[in-house]
Amino acid sequence: MKAVLFDLDGTLLWTDGAGRRAIHRSLLEVLGIEHPARGFRFDGRTDPEIVRLLAAAAGQPSGPAVVDAVLRRYVVLLEEELGRPGHRTTLYPGVRELLESLERRGDCIVGLLTGNVVAGADLKLRAAGLDPTRFRVGAFGSDDPERAALPAVALRRLREGLGLDIGGAAVVIVGDTPSDVTCGRGIGARALAVATGSFSVSDLVTAGAYAAFPDLADTAAVVAAAFAP
Ligand SMILES: [Mg+2]
Repeated sequence: MKAVLFDLDGTLLWTDGAGRRAIHRSLLEVLGIEHPARGFRFDGRTDPEIVRLLAAAAGQPSGPAVVDAVLRRYVVLLEEELGRPGHRTTLYPGVRELLESLERRGDCIVGLLTGNVVAGADLKLRAAGLDPTRFRVGAFGSDDPERAALPAVALRRLREGLGLDIGGAAVVIVGDTPSDVTCGRGIGARALAVATGSFSVSDLVTAGAYAAFPDLADTAAVVAAAFAP
């Protein structure tokens, strides 16, 4: 058995800035931060990490209770942003086909490994037309603010929730940033990377990806990389 764990933003879907707008609005409402640090990169970071860093950069309190309050409000605002008339959350090419292809196999669990808080991940998936319950295991930014801690969370859930005791290259992490590529090193996971976010195929190979693709449209190639011995 294998577990194939997908990142969300930049990998499966694109919310066209809704996530960033909701974080900015929540920082303004909860902490009065009008202009969060310019040029701050959201990709590869967990939601609690983003809030902590932006609050600290603005000279505001950034402890766990503050981060929780900002993220609670963020989820409400995210739903509003995703539901705005004319707003579109888009799945990247090949995502639907790849998920279906993996689900048809009897030898793999499809899951999530994302910096999103779980409620935010659910909202984004639904906005993109994917049922969150098809992901049978998940590790989220709400489990730990450090992405590198999330693979161990996923392993624990595979074991406790699905009775699946696996590790090493049986765990395949699919993501769009160097942080996705490196986060599974501690458990010996295999990283597959996709350049639909803001990093190129060569950036992602340099970061150590086992394989990197321009997008996930070539289902057979992605599946072959995931299942290669
Ligand atoms: Mg991403």
